[in-house]
Amino acid sequence: MAYFQSKPAAGRHFLQIPGPTNVPDRVLRAMDNPTMDHRGPDFGRMGKALLDKVRAVFKTEGPVVIYPASGTGAWEAALANTLSPGDRVLMCETGWFAHLWHEMATRLQLQPDYIRTDWRRGADVAAIEAKLREDKGHEIKAVCVVHNETSTGCASRIDEVRRAMDAAGHPALLLVDTISSLGSIDYRHDEWGVDVTVAGSQKGLMLPPGLSFNAVSEKALKASETARMPRSFWDWKPMLAANATGYFPYTPATNLLYALDTAVDMLLEEGLDNVFARHDRHAEATRRAVRHWGFETQCADPRHHSSSLTAVRLPEGHSANALRATILEKFNMSLGNGLGQLNDRVFRIGHLGDFGDLQLVGTLGGVEMGLKAAGIPFQPGGVLAAMDYLNGNA
Ligand SMILES: *Cc1c(COP(=O)(O)O)cnc(C)c1O
Repeated sequence: MAYFQSKPAAGRHFLQIPGPTNVPDRVLRAMDNPTMDHRGPDFGRMGKALLDKVRAVFKTEGPVVIYPASGTGAWEAALANTLSPGDRVLMCETGWFAHLWHEMATRLQLQPDYIRTDWRRGADVAAIEAKLREDKGHEIKAVCVVHNETSTGCASRIDEVRRAMDAAGHPALLLVDTISSLGSIDYRHDEWGVDVTVAGSQKGLMLPPGLSFNAVSEKALKASETARMPRSFWDWKPMLAANATGYFPYTPATNLLYALDTAVDMLLEEGLDNVFARHDRHAEATRRAVRHWGFETQCADPRHHSSSLTAVRLPEGHSANALRATILEKFNMSLGNGLGQLNDRVFRIGHLGDFGDLQLVGTLGGVEMGLKAAGIPFQPGGVLAAMDYLNGNA
């Protein structure tokens, strides 16, 4: 079966969208093992060890629930397990993904308060604090923030959100979407007092799509005892009961769990701090190329630059989608499209996951050649600027 029809035969496809990301060969090989009996003794052994090990990536001592679902499922799980219909929640419109989570909350009959931004920065921490201070009756039950807004390349400061909630003395739960930051950008579930961390497999964790996660605090577990939102598939209770012995209440995605086991090993072998530093360095090199070309990043606040992707604004009158099509056609590289109001305005370079210096230079080389081929005015030499930075000569 030919899964790709339009690509040249030779050379490797560059999958530089900000998720799904390139899956390392070692992870692909782990998946290529026989599916085991998920009620048999070997599974429990593996499941228990894996559920224990994966907590290190979230920096939590608490339980991590794993669903056979995309990240959207874990969004729903976070809301459905902790809240009741009619509850007020505070959400921050950082971009397209925050927008989708907000829509979901509305459909689940929650009442979101929505703090707007211009999609060029992270969550407005001062506005969160002000809203919580106003809410003297503590009607707001949860604050929901997207850590890394994949549509804009802006990362919110979760440590500051926590401090703002504490400063306001407000007891709301803190729910954080780390689908495109976990395993790429520094994140600390316990230290930052996050109640539910939502994650997915196909971005920083370097797996194919198909798994998603909730890391759960004690406070969130307690809230789940009285939360009245109807839930069944997403219910933490039977999940945690089965997980205690390494099993799942329904069939898990067994071969993706092999992959997760290997991917977590790889992250821990490299060392999480080294993983984060590698992403920071590639992001900075990318921004230097973008600046050199003469373009702006969509993120306008240097304190909020994402280390997993860069969204690049093209000059007015030039089509980002046409540029991406040219690059795919000529150089066999996929770049991320602009989402929602950013459609055709920006393109997104994913530099997360299984990624090294030469992949970055190749990626930026493809963009620079594509700019020329698409007839977009730019200053040549962005790749050199990135290489200088990578060499420590910047
Ligand atoms: C990719 C992504 C999602 C959606 O995840 P799916 O796996 O496509 O359901 C949600 N939030 C963020 C920040 C993402 O990057």
